[in-house]
Amino acid sequence: MTALGRASGVCAGGWGDSGRAMRGPPPPLPVLFVVLVAAPGTRAAGYETCPTVQPDMLNVHLLPHTHDDVGWIKTVDQYYYGVRNVLHHGAVKNILDSVISALRAEPSRRFVYVEMAFFSRWWHQQTNATQQAVRELVRQGRLEFANGGWVMNDEAATHYGAIVDQMTLGLRFLQDTFGDDGRPRVAWHIDPFGHSREQASLFAQMGFDGIFLGRVDYQDKEMRKKKREMEMVWRASTSLQPPTADLFTGVLPNVYHPPKDLCWDLLCHDNHVVDDPADPGYNDKELAHYFLDVATYQRQSYRTNHTVMTMGDDFHYENANMWFSNLDKLIRLVNAEQANGSRVHVLYSTPACYLWELNKANLTWSLKEDDFFPYADGPHQFWTGYFSSRPALKRYERVSYNFLQVCKQLEALAGPAANVGPYGSGDSAPLEEAMAVLQHHDAITGTSRQLVADDFARRLAAGWGRCEVLLSNALARLSGSQEAFSICPELNISVCPLSQTSARFQVAIYNPLARKVDRMVRLPVSEGAFLVKDPSGHAVPSDVLLLPQPEGQKPSPELLFSASVPALGFSIYSVARVSLQNPKAHSPERIPQKSRTGVLVIQNEYIRATFSTKTGFLMQIEDMEQKLVLPVSQSFFWYSAGTWDLKNIDVFGVSGAYIFRPSQPEPSPVSSWAKIHLLKTPLVQEVHQNFSAWCSQVVRLYRGQRHLELEWTVGPIPLHDSFGKEVISRFDTPLDTKGYFYTDSNGREILKRRRNYRPTWNLNQTEPVAGNYYPVNTRIYITDRKKQLTVLTDRCQGGSSLQDGSLELMVHRRLLLDDKQGLGEPLLEEGSGSWVRGRHLVLLDMVGKAAMGHRLLAQKEVLAPQVVLAPDTGTPYHPGATQRTQFSGLRRELPPSVHLLTLARWGPETLLLRLEHQFASREGSGHNLSSPVTLNLLDLFSTFTITRLQETTLAANQPRASASRLKWTPNSGPIRNLPVHRPDPAAITLQPMEIRTFVAMVEWKSMPGPSGTPPSKPELFPLLFATGASAATH
Ligand SMILES: [Zn+2]
Repeated sequence: MTALGRASGVCAGGWGDSGRAMRGPPPPLPVLFVVLVAAPGTRAAGYETCPTVQPDMLNVHLLPHTHDDVGWIKTVDQYYYGVRNVLHHGAVKNILDSVISALRAEPSRRFVYVEMAFFSRWWHQQTNATQQAVRELVRQGRLEFANGGWVMNDEAATHYGAIVDQMTLGLRFLQDTFGDDGRPRVAWHIDPFGHSREQASLFAQMGFDGIFLGRVDYQDKEMRKKKREMEMVWRASTSLQPPTADLFTGVLPNVYHPPKDLCWDLLCHDNHVVDDPADPGYNDKELAHYFLDVATYQRQSYRTNHTVMTMGDDFHYENANMWFSNLDKLIRLVNAEQANGSRVHVLYSTPACYLWELNKANLTWSLKEDDFFPYADGPHQFWTGYFSSRPALKRYERVSYNFLQVCKQLEALAGPAANVGPYGSGDSAPLEEAMAVLQHHDAITGTSRQLVADDFARRLAAGWGRCEVLLSNALARLSGSQEAFSICPELNISVCPLSQTSARFQVAIYNPLARKVDRMVRLPVSEGAFLVKDPSGHAVPSDVLLLPQPEGQKPSPELLFSASVPALGFSIYSVARVSLQNPKAHSPERIPQKSRTGVLVIQNEYIRATFSTKTGFLMQIEDMEQKLVLPVSQSFFWYSAGTWDLKNIDVFGVSGAYIFRPSQPEPSPVSSWAKIHLLKTPLVQEVHQNFSAWCSQVVRLYRGQRHLELEWTVGPIPLHDSFGKEVISRFDTPLDTKGYFYTDSNGREILKRRRNYRPTWNLNQTEPVAGNYYPVNTRIYITDRKKQLTVLTDRCQGGSSLQDGSLELMVHRRLLLDDKQGLGEPLLEEGSGSWVRGRHLVLLDMVGKAAMGHRLLAQKEVLAPQVVLAPDTGTPYHPGATQRTQFSGLRRELPPSVHLLTLARWGPETLLLRLEHQFASREGSGHNLSSPVTLNLLDLFSTFTITRLQETTLAANQPRASASRLKWTPNSGPIRNLPVHRPDPAAITLQPMEIRTFVAMVEWKSMPGPSGTPPSKPELFPLLFATGASAATH
């Protein structure tokens, strides 16, 4: 077991890795017999328990499995207990009960389980005796965990940080519960709707030996079957040195379903095996021959004498005996045919054991370097709508990722005082779990029913509550002052009761980035003039804006000031209303539409944006520092969602929660002109554009900002004309982009896209719009190789470039029909989800300088400062406590190439630390940002001292020094394994795009000193650092 107990005390352990062979007492005799039968011979680590195969036959690996969605048609809780089965039959508790007894009943049976959100819940409800029996099944390899994340996460709409967090949570449960026996070797992404390259890279860095996929594009699959390239090596990074991000990848033959007519669940209707010759339904010969035909046909698409059949489906095995008793018979019948000359051997197996046989075949595999987006399962069924479905939920998830990192960092920086303090008990775990659930491929995707989407949001909200208590405890401790802290979750719509009703209040701003940030703070206030003071008591410039409200309502004042916040720390500003003779508030001025060509300009030190007074649209962006000018027209359009053509119902798809299928390739403009207002103050210049009653935008330039901010508000999308609508923001420029554009993969590496093209097969493009849509997690850009126009998003959106020089992002969609992919409900959000506000940040750069801008700005948006308000009536944290208005958790900022991906409590005296090089190789030329960077972690943090450091794999479930992966040879040539060096905390080197993960034993200081001052308490014991092997071996 690796070390690594959680604060809750679930696990305690040493620092070593005791490994499978040394664990626990010997098994009782009957079990030992099974192990000996099932696992003869010597096997690679983790594969010792795999079944025996027949080297000179076709081996058919039957994989009994269940696919348990963590919320879809029903909520997570309803699926667990089997409530409201009338909506969708699913009862995970019964599935696990039933599978465990079926496995115990017959020793050859095997089963694979995936979703830890369900399994951990079930586990904690079991008796000691059942838990012991399950441990034994796991030790024998008969209950195998694949993937092992809290959920099987989506790959399009997820941010890499949240993927790493959710995998860490699930894998940690397995490691704490089962040790290395329970550590999954195989990733199992059988249902996500397309596959990202970053996901494969992350899985490789987590130590997985391979992945199996269910859904790949139908044209891609046909080609792969013909070329026998259903199995391949995926090179998932252009920066990380192979084989660091190489992942063996297999495409399953039948998505994740059983072969036709061989489904023996209570949810299926196929004939069971009747092996009594006297019975009129006797069918064993017929079934055996049918099975042999299926297996022989299937093997034609694969390269070894092994093939798999996924024997299970959604929520199968509630009555596991139905499945298993038929499979027992099938195996017996088919293998009996060997006496008649059959060369087919059928066996119970697992994904890892199938993978192990592929590895032993020692072949050279085709190499894949792009990704599996977009996914289509038919000519008109592109699963590209879900990139944008439920934009409000997608944003709530992204904001919650931000808040969770703030919460976890404060839990780490303040130590135990964050968990229990004057505000009660606070904890990051509930938000961590809720966020993990949100990564599920029917959650963040927006493809669940409305009642389930509401439940996902409820889970996040409950998690926020516990983190808010933690945040108050931590801020009080670190600032030395107890205040009635409050956060205003509705600041995006200018609602914050404290600032709107108080004449005097404090604004604490916490910055989760490892470098200083300057940020405009904007708060709704009452009328009047205000004096804002910085942490050292000096007045800072501020403006009051009076913004127009809907008809009949008073203009609403907003206070604006610029705040500066140190790395991983906070600044506390004070705000007080002052009496002035003539308080000056700035109001936007209506600009009348002019028929002739006229222009309107907003600008700051760096950027000038020009608008047409005729249309009210943006028409040009200029970067004055780089001397770049680009005509850019930006406006909103909508695609009309298709309708069912009843005559061709199988051929034609329709837009729904998953599918995007516009009825016409040309979108309609929301309006041909916008009503505009202009606002200019010393701190901000804004153009307010009103396109229609349901579509508006503020184009904004704050002082000192090097990008243009477009804050759009869309909804409720009207449907009275009976057209479902999919609304886009489109930027048109004269850039000669030659069909290319670029999108990020889960917020990290960038993939080059080409219109109407796929890198690995000759595309027959059947949907000119939807077939060119890709997930945009954080950014999309176009370039003519000189200038680059980049748009950053604040949540996942579908995006594309359908004409040279143009790029578009789908911001919202509201539909009248269901797309018949199982949801059974149209995406017809009402109420809060129907009205959405978001931001696009636009950067114009020379190509060579662009990465510096978009990389740093994207992290600033994902980990934005957290604004916390307090009424300024505080009392000392304890008598004599020094009050601090500014604090940094770091003694020195990290360099711009380095991102602090994770700082979190791991155990009572341990922290989890992830450091990431956030530039790709050959990016950021001219700034040296793509160079390797070396850090000194000694004395880096101000509130604790690191006394011991162990490097782990990415999900922190095994020490990096002892981790080894199966070796695969791509057809590009053999790869030599890279040495693993012992981490030297004084010199941790990060290569471009590298993430390094550490578990650090720490000692918190009794009270943190202000940034830069020595610790207030001497260190109790000298620094010790764990030693690791100097090289990994395979
Ligand atoms: Zn699913």
